[in-house]
Amino acid sequence: MPTLIEPEEHKALRAAVSALGNRYGRAYLTRTVAEGKPLTELWSEAGKLGYLGVNLPEAYGGGGGGIAELSIVLEELGAAGSPLLMLVVSPAICGTVIARFGTEEQKRTWLPGLADGTRLMAFGITEPDAGSNSHRITTTARRDGADWLLTGRKVFISGVDMADAVLIVGRTEDARTGRLKPCLFIVPTDAEGFQKRPIDMELSAAEKQFELVLDDVRLPADALVGDEDAGLLQLFAGLNPERIMTAAFAIGMGRYALGKAIEYARDRTVWKAPIGAHQAIAHPLAQAHIDLELARLMMQKAAHLYDAGDDIGAGEAANMAKYAAGEACVRAVDQAVHTLGGNGLTREFGLASLITAARVARIAPVSREMILNYVSHQSLGLPKSY
Ligand SMILES: Cc1cc2nc3c(=O)[nH]c(=O)nc-3n(C[C@H](O)[C@H](O)[C@H](O)COP(=O)(O)OP(=O)(O)OC[C@H]3O[C@@H](n4cnc5c(N)ncnc54)[C@H](O)[C@@H]3O)c2cc1C
Repeated sequence: MPTLIEPEEHKALRAAVSALGNRYGRAYLTRTVAEGKPLTELWSEAGKLGYLGVNLPEAYGGGGGGIAELSIVLEELGAAGSPLLMLVVSPAICGTVIARFGTEEQKRTWLPGLADGTRLMAFGITEPDAGSNSHRITTTARRDGADWLLTGRKVFISGVDMADAVLIVGRTEDARTGRLKPCLFIVPTDAEGFQKRPIDMELSAAEKQFELVLDDVRLPADALVGDEDAGLLQLFAGLNPERIMTAAFAIGMGRYALGKAIEYARDRTVWKAPIGAHQAIAHPLAQAHIDLELARLMMQKAAHLYDAGDDIGAGEAANMAKYAAGEACVRAVDQAVHTLGGNGLTREFGLASLITAARVARIAPVSREMILNYVSHQSLGLPKSY
């Protein structure tokens, strides 16, 4: 990629992570997925090298950087063909929320392990009847003496099989008004009453998605993260990094697909010149490159605002970055597959499976339409239809 608007230490991080990613590459991911295993070797090595916790505080084993650094890690691993999806969840959402709002005890218990990758935390907000509308979630915590009892259902929760715990978004009842307010709980995956069932996804990825049933899961008082009365604010502190990291995931994947297409278009000759000489092939690839570069600029803006402590400014930029990156990724993958002709659909060239993988960035963690809604209402001041 050409020179980037980023400091020297970011360039150095980018180069180092890229070297690690390329040592594993797509072949590692394909082989591991075929064996039905998680990407343990890459995850552990990235953890030992300090890449998984670059955003977490140094006092708890992290690198002392921010989401700008963590997004570089995910983008470069993705561009090498081996993205670690759980970076979006474990250090970016859960690590951030615990670092910002957790008690000293929670920080000491979780952050060093999340930083070096020896522990992993999944994140559960989505529910069967409250997909895009998270105001409708019904997973509820009620007090039982000093404990909490948590009951509800979650869907599409990534990586629960690899996780030690899930940061669950639930609700508690406001003692004064009776209204339900969002709250975050650390729920160990081996807790009694916690059940997980894998969802059969049409996705070639090492990270599986799960449906969760929480049946009166008993949690100690200190399972609650942060202030019971400021749940929404704390939740958004984790959701902006999630959007920025999903943008990084999408940009990495788009770059990987585009790289493969360019390589192919330079060589493949069915007339006098390589197919890349035909503008019908070259221009869409050039457009895909432009779109990915633009999406990265917005991602860098969002990360910069977030790391500078501007949660509100970061909200708009993070949504826009996620939108731009998701769309750029879907288009880059589509054009890459097309560039390879029939080979675009063979297992050998390995691009076809990215068609479904790229769609994840359009749907999750917040869909294209919900971002357009957000920008319509928040940025443009237009009325709501729902
Ligand atoms: C691979 C994968 C991994 C995931 N991992 C996690 C995870 O780890 N944790 C977690 O909590 N969740 C996870 N999710 C869930 C994801 O965040 C949701 O799928 C997403 O929020 C959309 O919710 P939904 O699927 O219920 O779609 P719905 O909300 O049912 O939406 C369906 C369609 O309707 C559109 N739509 C809905 N409302 C409106 C509206 N008001 N205006 C216009 N269009 C609208 C949407 O844009 C979408 O296209 C994951 C999903 C996938 C696919």
